[in-house]
Amino acid sequence: MTPLHDLLVRRITTGGPITIADYMGECLLHPEHGYYSTRDPFGTGGDFITAPEISQMFGELLGLALAQCWLDQGQPETFTLAELGPGRATLMADILRATQKVPGFHDAANVVLVEASDHLRKVQRQTLSPHPATWVDSAADLPDAPLFLVANEFFDALPIRQFTRDGQGWREHLVTTDGQALSLKLGAPLPIGALDHRLGDTTQGDIVELCPMAGGITGALTSRIKAKGGAAIVIDYGNWRSLGDTLQAVKDHKPQDPFANPGDADLTAHVDFGELAQAGRDVAVTPMTPQGVFLERLGITARAQQLAAPLTGDALQNHIAAHRRLTHPDEMGSLFKAIAFHPRGRPAPPGFDQ
Ligand code: SAH
Repeated sequence: MTPLHDLLVRRITTGGPITIADYMGECLLHPEHGYYSTRDPFGTGGDFITAPEISQMFGELLGLALAQCWLDQGQPETFTLAELGPGRATLMADILRATQKVPGFHDAANVVLVEASDHLRKVQRQTLSPHPATWVDSAADLPDAPLFLVANEFFDALPIRQFTRDGQGWREHLVTTDGQALSLKLGAPLPIGALDHRLGDTTQGDIVELCPMAGGITGALTSRIKAKGGAAIVIDYGNWRSLGDTLQAVKDHKPQDPFANPGDADLTAHVDFGELAQAGRDVAVTPMTPQGVFLERLGITARAQQLAAPLTGDALQNHIAAHRRLTHPDEMGSLFKAIAFHPRGRPAPPGFDQ
């Protein structure tokens, strides 16, 4: 039993069952016992590995894609180069390295990182040093300036609510306890306005998910892009419409019961790209594009061949495996998707077929 488990059992015993969103919020970001508040979970020695940790190619290509957008939009002389949920900041470090030779780009860029975990902010500061950066708590705090932003595996870490269809209503999945273990129960059937649009494409017993924070965060990005210019590229696992239970816990690279060790395992859910596109409709939204296709269009194979040239033995095999892992449909190539937001009437970022 984790310390957070005991706190949650006491909270639910006194106050009644909580939503899965409340549960996830506590598990991930409780100031003392939350998963991201207490550790650096990335890499082979951690619990999971993300695309920028697999290969430098991922961040390099994203960096050049953002730089191309900046050029396409007339090189605004000061802009925010931002990332949501930077983890170890490996992605931002690769973006900065790859864009070093784009004339004027670094001079115009103010690096701003949206990060909730103080622990990870320290790791990020170290990774990026000596490059200056500032940190903000939420997307709403980003500067009022042209915004060129990436978010990789950020939206999957946001709390979701889960519902089962019952007639014309929905029964919410709630976390409860018998005083010892945590378990799930279904709430009473209720109409849920935010799910009205799902009454047409679901039937009795279907499970759907809602991410209450996703819309507000997307809106904070797209209102800046609309007013000041810029672009946001979001990459994550998920699909166009949420269907089914996608809540998952991972510890030491292995799946776990999401209710077994609160605070000690990563908890995520698939991203509903339709929800993001809907929230960002004030600006132009690109088609949702599989990661493998997106990276191929950005030239990952040419870059992989260039990096392979001096390599031999294990280093070469690892490099080939990393390229495959990022792009192949059996690995991250089709489960992960990319989508981008950009001003109407301006070119989409490279890699998105318009
Ligand atoms: N983008 C990184 C890591 C993704 S993990 C990579 O590709 O490697 C999720 C990141 O989002 C972590 O840095 C976590 O601390 C941060 N995070 C999670 N919820 C957040 C929230 N509500 N606000 C800000 N940051 C958050």
